[in-house]
Amino acid sequence: MGGLFGAVLETDCVIDIFYGTDYHSHLGTRRGGLAVKNERRIVKTIKKIENSYFRTKLGSELPALHGKSGIGVISDNDAQPLVLGSHLGAFGIATVGKINNLEEIIKEAFSRRIHFSEAGGGSVNPTELAGMLISQKDSFAEGIVYAREMIQGSCSILLLADEGIIAARDKLGRTPLAIGKKDSGYAVASETTAFYNLGYDVEYFLGPGEVVQIDAKGYRQLVAPGNQMQVCAFLWIYYGYPASSYEGINVESVRYRCGKKLGEKDDTSVDMVAGIPDSGIGHAIGYANFRRITYSRPYVKYTPTWPRSFMPQNQSDRDLVARMKLIPVKDLIEGKRLLFCDDSIVRGTQLKDNVAHLFRAGAKEVHMRIACPALIYPCPFLNFSTSRSNLDLVGRKAIHEIEGIDDSEAILECLEAYTDQASEKYDKMVDVIRSRLGLTSLRFQEINDMIEAIGLDREKLCTHCWNGNGRF
Ligand code: SF4
Repeated sequence: MGGLFGAVLETDCVIDIFYGTDYHSHLGTRRGGLAVKNERRIVKTIKKIENSYFRTKLGSELPALHGKSGIGVISDNDAQPLVLGSHLGAFGIATVGKINNLEEIIKEAFSRRIHFSEAGGGSVNPTELAGMLISQKDSFAEGIVYAREMIQGSCSILLLADEGIIAARDKLGRTPLAIGKKDSGYAVASETTAFYNLGYDVEYFLGPGEVVQIDAKGYRQLVAPGNQMQVCAFLWIYYGYPASSYEGINVESVRYRCGKKLGEKDDTSVDMVAGIPDSGIGHAIGYANFRRITYSRPYVKYTPTWPRSFMPQNQSDRDLVARMKLIPVKDLIEGKRLLFCDDSIVRGTQLKDNVAHLFRAGAKEVHMRIACPALIYPCPFLNFSTSRSNLDLVGRKAIHEIEGIDDSEAILECLEAYTDQASEKYDKMVDVIRSRLGLTSLRFQEINDMIEAIGLDREKLCTHCWNGNGRF
């Protein structure tokens, strides 16, 4: 996925962009970078953050950076930010999203004898590609509009130029951008979590496709927002940070409401409620408070050395890390009927291990309540972890088993029947998942309840993961 941060101040901005970008570390695990504009030029630094923290890797670079405007990015994919030369002047660029027609655009560019410099990994850097498209036109605003017409998928952009920062939210608003304000200037961020401790108040949420130009005195609209929105519902359910808000709606509050809604439809007798750390906790507190059942921590996360979602590239290493991070508290578990809430089940491998550990520690029953419906469709719009391939998804695997079809193309015909949560097929799929995970009982949130918990109109939300309804 990835996250963006930028600031334009009357004073030096380096500390703000350093910590502001760091507050997006939960959104990406591969690259982190900063670009700062000083009196003479734009200086950038990019580091691999696969095995270390953004702050650890970038901290030693700070003495070389100074300037009043800058951008930063945490990326799950390409090395960024980039600094490009163009007829519009030199500019820094960072992007978040996924370009599905990358090869097509590259081919078209080559046919016009355009070359790319950042192709070290064997393919063109998508951020450079976006920059190339932008610099085809007579102004940054026109270039951004053109790039968005050409790109299939989604692409939110920060540009660092002479006129300040230009922030562009992707056409359908799949990923968020918000503006923050303090006495010395303005910032822009994917996550409003980044604002509070740096002294910013949330000033404005960009609309879908909106483009604004930001300087130390304020911001002005360059391109008005479109009237269609498809903001990712998963932001609130899983990958957003609890203190953040998108479209003015806070993540932790949505998680609480999701848990409450799960509790309203449940009368299972249990001894305690718990959240799978970390993103299941908000949902579980909502559930426990509504049902007036003790909230407890029968599973704790070993935070001193695993404080964030460290993601090795290899799946078996990822599973090992996930297992090592969570430790059961035997004294709370023995002889108890436990009910856990979690944000979602993606592959289920980790959860299966967790459940086995809980029974090994003496649990009498382990019930699981999930804050969203079963995942059936992979995300075609954002760059999530590569583990989310079609066949890995827990719902997909169960459907393959039920239908007895191995062919991943042939199964597409059957999927829609499993998105109807009132159908026998859906119940059967849930039971196959339950049995595979070794759970006493399993329930997923109904999609209407999830949408109500978020509180946005249904047509403004992307819910493609669950029902395949995403607008392209
Ligand atoms: S497909 Fe899922 S993860 Fe992707 S944008 Fe839509 S809701 Fe979000």
